[in-house]
Amino acid sequence: MSFAANAEIDLKALHSNFLRARQAAPHSNILAVVKANAYGHGTEAVARALTEADGFGVARLNEAIALRRAGIRHKVLLLEGPMHMDELADIVRLELDLVIHHTFQFDMLEGCAQFQRANLWLKFDSGMGRLGFDIRNGGEILARARRLQAVDQPLRLMTHLANADDRDDDHTARQIERFLEFTDGRDCEISIANSGGTLAWAQSHQDWVRPGIMLYGISPFAGRLGRDCDLAPVMRLRTRLIAKNRMRKGQSVGYSGLWRCPRDSWVGIAAIGYADGLPRHTPTGTPVLINGEKAPLIGRVSMDMVAVDLSDLPASAAGDEVVLWGGELPVEEIARAAGSIPYELVCRVAPRVPRLILD
Ligand SMILES: *Cc1c(COP(=O)(O)O)cnc(C)c1O
Repeated sequence: MSFAANAEIDLKALHSNFLRARQAAPHSNILAVVKANAYGHGTEAVARALTEADGFGVARLNEAIALRRAGIRHKVLLLEGPMHMDELADIVRLELDLVIHHTFQFDMLEGCAQFQRANLWLKFDSGMGRLGFDIRNGGEILARARRLQAVDQPLRLMTHLANADDRDDDHTARQIERFLEFTDGRDCEISIANSGGTLAWAQSHQDWVRPGIMLYGISPFAGRLGRDCDLAPVMRLRTRLIAKNRMRKGQSVGYSGLWRCPRDSWVGIAAIGYADGLPRHTPTGTPVLINGEKAPLIGRVSMDMVAVDLSDLPASAAGDEVVLWGGELPVEEIARAAGSIPYELVCRVAPRVPRLILD
């Protein structure tokens, strides 16, 4: 229990967003992406609420270990594959699926007989310019993977979309086309789509979709809100007012005196700061909700606190709840105000902020 900053996690909303992904890509398996502590929402609670998923995707071995510890027996894919020899023992023991995107990973695995049974996902670069083999070497890479997997298993071929946040960008169509041309007739399972692909590019659906951000009720498209995509926000970040002070015109508020009261004002102090995950660059004027009404943040965000102008909310009082994002206050809007993206805001909610699970 926390009377200061806490994040309420609505598992019903999470589940309805999962069904939205099913509805959007009805013929695909769903690999629910739960990296970075399920985008800050809490891996364990999220994975347990998504038992209908066909698998989970994580970015780090310790995230996969957390899933197995939580009793998750599903397929778990390490999205960046093994990074060091010393990870291989855990990978085998936990029966993880692996992305292989680089020859150094083949070099590691080829020395280890246990990988004859591994489930490999070969990642190719179709235009992201980050991870993945060059499609022009595709035949050679596939042959190398088949030699490694002595046991006859389906290989999976994947790629990642670079510009799927923009529905009008034809780079996405070109990536999909290039990749499907390469995979055509190879008798492998195929995976292309992130959330943007899942919602907007049916051609990208194929055998496996890999939605992340949409599961948390957040729009993958720049300039759109979750609700525009029939998604429901899962996280509500909130805290309380721990002071309401009368300040005179001209008095300054907080570090550096960044804000000076333009009139006699009521200033609230909310118990949340950058150490909780409220970005320090969140500017004056960014709204919060107090008793369902908007009020502007003022001055510098400090480590544990931030100030709010309560002059237009005469009924507000110390002890009132303050919502930073969630519900009627979309995290997409707060991210834009803070010069960030909603992905970053939710995944940076700090460990000291308790997640209160609503199921
Ligand atoms: C993070 C990630 C995803 C999910 O992306 P969203 O934009 O959050 O849907 C899918 N695939 C890979 C390889 C990823 O790293």
